[in-house]
Amino acid sequence: MSLQGKVALVTGAASGIGEQCARKLAADGAAVVIADLNLVNAQKVADDIVAGGGKALAVAMDVTNEDAVNAGIEEAVAKLGSLDVLVSNAGIQIVNPIEDYAFADWKKMLAIHLDGAFLTTKAAIKHIYAGGKGGSIIYMGSVHSHEASKLKSAYVTAKHGLLGLARVVAKEGGSRGVRANVVCPGFVRTPLVDKQIPEQAKALGISEAQVVKDVMLKETVDGEFTTIDDVANTVAFLAGFGSAALTGQSIVVSHGWFMQ
Ligand code: NAD
Repeated sequence: MSLQGKVALVTGAASGIGEQCARKLAADGAAVVIADLNLVNAQKVADDIVAGGGKALAVAMDVTNEDAVNAGIEEAVAKLGSLDVLVSNAGIQIVNPIEDYAFADWKKMLAIHLDGAFLTTKAAIKHIYAGGKGGSIIYMGSVHSHEASKLKSAYVTAKHGLLGLARVVAKEGGSRGVRANVVCPGFVRTPLVDKQIPEQAKALGISEAQVVKDVMLKETVDGEFTTIDDVANTVAFLAGFGSAALTGQSIVVSHGWFMQ
């Protein structure tokens, strides 16, 4: 589906899933805003998209900071003229059993995943409404929006919360053509997951190979990781979908780990 003439902002787009979402949306014709805490890497991604003939702009954004979110979105709209698609993707992972889970880490996790989703939605939706053409808001959930795993109290709580936010935004935005959905990937080999493998091995007292086979991919139908392309293609599908037939939904992309 062509996204020609659309402007899409992706948070956490300097790495991993967000980067691939931005590259795919740009390949489909959108002008993309690479919003990330890491401006150096965001600029590299934007430069690469531009070198390949796409349209891209890098903006510095800490999604937990209201002023930074508002400033980044204002800059994007001022430079690119409108906003049609938001992919709220920035995220981190901190694993620990709940009795050892630092309250500061809990708050940090909820701030990035939930405050970030709220603040970017709040700032973006008024521009999408102002454009009068409707738009698409996509939250990066996880299989952990539906399932629980040991060691992930904050992550599972936050990812479940995104389902509620998406449903409210779907209802509020419906009459103005704004759709809101959640994409829920299984494990994808990105820096976020690579960091977790030795941490989980230590916490669970098993080898790294066992973490991959017996924890991360155990419930999949084929023992395979989900890829950044699988997730980016699903995001692009939702970004370009032509009606509100698909809104308030979550789409699970996980090699059958979770079936709904
Ligand atoms: P990643 O570590 O490769 O990329 C995350 C990006 O987010 C980085 O560029 C980082 O700089 C940025 N970021 C972190 N904190 C930020 C903040 N406060 N403000 C702005 N940017 C910030 O991770 P990833 O695996 O690509 O994860 C992206 C999203 O996908 C996350 O929401 C994650 O929970 C979700 N997810 C990942 C997996 C997986 O297996 N990798 C599975 C399901 C869902």
